[in-house]
Amino acid sequence: MNNSNDQLIVRELTKTFSIATESLPILAGVDLELSRGDALAITGPSGSGKSTLLYILGVLDQPTSGEVIQFGQNPFVLNAKEQAEYRNHNVGFIFQDHHLMPQFSVLENVLIPTMVNQEAANDAEERARHLLERVGLQDRMHHRPAQISGGERQRVAVCRALINNPRLLLADEPTGNLDRTNTESIGKLLLEINQEQNTILICVTHSSELAALFPQHQRLRDGLLVTESV
Ligand code: ADP
Ligand code: MG
Repeated sequence: MNNSNDQLIVRELTKTFSIATESLPILAGVDLELSRGDALAITGPSGSGKSTLLYILGVLDQPTSGEVIQFGQNPFVLNAKEQAEYRNHNVGFIFQDHHLMPQFSVLENVLIPTMVNQEAANDAEERARHLLERVGLQDRMHHRPAQISGGERQRVAVCRALINNPRLLLADEPTGNLDRTNTESIGKLLLEINQEQNTILICVTHSSELAALFPQHQRLRDGLLVTESV
């Protein structure tokens, strides 16, 4: 039996952008149901709405209509402050461009999402060190982002996304700037972490190489998600 507290449920999700007098429908009724432990790759051409969908699932943007229930809760009924808290505790987001702070060390970057938490700094740092060791960056903790490779920067971004133990892990073209070898190793790392931490993992990508590593695939086409076998 599936328990809705362990699920992500999306029903009839639509998103329309309005620019001046034009209205631009991007998502036209997306349905999706995932449980903890699931790992889904979403593919689709550029401009098909992949980032738009992921931003809504990450509560970084609002849907136009439809229902989104995450772990038994509709995050869009919360006020802005509650949404920020919800995101911080439940969602890890990995961007194509790592979005690390150049003036902070690797370790400090991983700690950024913990800065608003009511917890001992030592506990957070312990978790950050553990995560950085987990992804093989134990020797890079005090480097700046500019002093490590692109693949290493993306591993730091993965650690930062995981620092608050999110149940939902979202990755938007996480290997878009990486070569083939790094694409495969970041993909494998995300899938291993998905299993170790029992997250729901959704990865948006136009890389068929990366998508092929995933057990589930959907394609965004004409504003709808369609199941695809690879
Ligand atoms: P993808 O990630 O699949 O390349 P996006 O979700 O980024 O696609 O964009 C889908 C479409 O929505 C594009 O045509 C884009 O121009 C448009 N779009 C995205 N964000 C906005 C916005 N904030 N305002 C207006 N149009 C937007
Ligand atoms: Mg995109």
